[in-house]
Amino acid sequence: MPFKRPAPEPHPRSDSQSLESSSSALQPSKHARLEPSEKAIPDVTLYIVQAKLDPSSLSELFRLAERHAQRLCSNATEADVIITTIRMRRRLERHIPWTLAKQKAIVTPQWLRDCVKQNKVLPCVDYAAIQELRTETEKNCPECNLAPCLCGDSDSEVETPSNQPASSKHRPTKAGLEETQESDMHAKIPARLLHPDPSIPTPLDKLNYASRYACRRASPLTCPNQELVRELDIVHRSRAMESEERNALSYQRAISVIKAYPHRITSVSQVQKLPFIGQKTGTMVEEFIDTGKIEEAQTILASDRFKALSLFTSVYGIGPNTAHRLYSLGLRSINDLEIYYGVERDEPQATGPSELQEVEMQKRPHYWRGQDQDKGNRKHGLGDSWIRIALELREDLAIKIPRAEVEEMERIVMAELAELEPGCVSTIVGGYRRGKPESNDVDIVFTHPDAGVMKGLCKRFVRRLYERGMVSHVMHLSGFHGHNPLRTTHWDSLEKALTVFTLPNSSQIHNGIRRRLDMIFAPPEVYWTAVIGWSGSIMFQRDLRQWAKDKLAMKFDSSGITRRYDSKMFFPKTEKEAFDLLGLEWVAPEWRNADA
Ligand code: ATP
Ligand code: MG
Ligand code: MN
Repeated sequence: MPFKRPAPEPHPRSDSQSLESSSSALQPSKHARLEPSEKAIPDVTLYIVQAKLDPSSLSELFRLAERHAQRLCSNATEADVIITTIRMRRRLERHIPWTLAKQKAIVTPQWLRDCVKQNKVLPCVDYAAIQELRTETEKNCPECNLAPCLCGDSDSEVETPSNQPASSKHRPTKAGLEETQESDMHAKIPARLLHPDPSIPTPLDKLNYASRYACRRASPLTCPNQELVRELDIVHRSRAMESEERNALSYQRAISVIKAYPHRITSVSQVQKLPFIGQKTGTMVEEFIDTGKIEEAQTILASDRFKALSLFTSVYGIGPNTAHRLYSLGLRSINDLEIYYGVERDEPQATGPSELQEVEMQKRPHYWRGQDQDKGNRKHGLGDSWIRIALELREDLAIKIPRAEVEEMERIVMAELAELEPGCVSTIVGGYRRGKPESNDVDIVFTHPDAGVMKGLCKRFVRRLYERGMVSHVMHLSGFHGHNPLRTTHWDSLEKALTVFTLPNSSQIHNGIRRRLDMIFAPPEVYWTAVIGWSGSIMFQRDLRQWAKDKLAMKFDSSGITRRYDSKMFFPKTEKEAFDLLGLEWVAPEWRNADA
């Protein structure tokens, strides 16, 4: 995919920004048809540090790189040579971690200009941008690594130096680009499927808290107005539980905007002009500033109805409709529910199922916490049997999962998966990836470099985990169905299993607590869209889809990016590339906390 060119005059604070550049990202570059032999540095992958480069130099360098290098990448890890005008370590470290910098050749822009002028790869050391990295720049220079006579590969008479730099172990050939030095297990896994480079800095100065789209705002886990957010969220949840969906969404949007507002709100005038802060929410903000509370939220919180509905919908599988029905029957507590559903407290219901408890859930169309999960149940007459099981699981599922346990779950699951299908990779997504200290469930996206392996893997793997005693329940198990650009809902078409999982005795952490585990199996070409889609948060995703639709006439979801008019699909090779493709600034997961 062609690299996104910088807009000539960036106006980072305007919402229409990067439309031009983003649409050009979808067009083949006019230079793209150059033969490799016409390129001055055909085997070199470049990364340009944009900081401190003026727009005209930037577009000159992008033009030269696009035209003459093998590839211009959007992730410094993948580059052979990094171009920058920065000369000081401290400044460089703001953009590239030092450990990574030491594995690269880091040069001034003049290197590229001279390579092009002389039509060959020149020694990087003469152009070293950071003096402290001169030796590394020399060692990692592709001029050295490309010339066998100098670096001594098997054809050469010179011996291979034992301290050969990491980057030269894989020569930057087309195939070499796909390789990684991570570990033996990962030896054949293409770099593009490995964990994203967490070090890509979020360009906070280019994100805009006043944008209408959460995907263009920086939303931290905890914001300076978190107390206000908490109050507003009570009203939001109440509206959602009363099935007032539009109204609930208005609050969710207002919350999302406040989440990204970087200052403490001490006057309503600060937020009045922000999108989605209407009269009603404005008044609530004012009230909060004056009293530290929102009366309506406090009234809701104290009401029996809210208490009961919150309790009922905390049971997995009970949505607003069922909750209302139970409330209207006079039920108020979990104990009432247990009696109603005939749950015998002492009799283990789901701990030792004789059959894999799919709970006949396969027939259920979709799960979405808090959104009419029960509709499907009732339609298929499955609600009661499931709710009985969910009630029995409730106490365990209410216990939050610390990060260490999330990591242990992934480790155990990956070890199991490696036995079934070696070579898979995974990313823990969901709240964990956004930096939450404790999660309600664990979400993991898997893929394998060989797309063929992925087909049907989800079901095979869930069966295995069940047989090994780790998975006890499967609430949803969806098989593979092809990408359908015409489908109306935003649900993805990936294979996935929403399960209940317990760490085995052999694990480092064995507390016997049953945990919700969502596993998503993505073919390699849509791995990164799946990772983005499942990283959340909900409003971030919603606005990402909205942005793609409004501004690019594209459809984004976890199972792919599709251009609407001709259904052409795009396959970003990294997470950053997906942002580039959508004309969006990079937002690291910890800045995607656009919900309460
Ligand atoms: P926590 O699990 O701690 O409550 P979370 O953000 O991980 O927080 P999840 O409900 O696990 O919440 O969802 C994670 C993300 O996965 C959501 O933000 C949403 O974008 C996506 N997601 C969840 N369920 C589905 C689904 N059925 N289809 C597509 N995407 C989903
Ligand atoms: Mg989660
Ligand atoms: Mn989940």
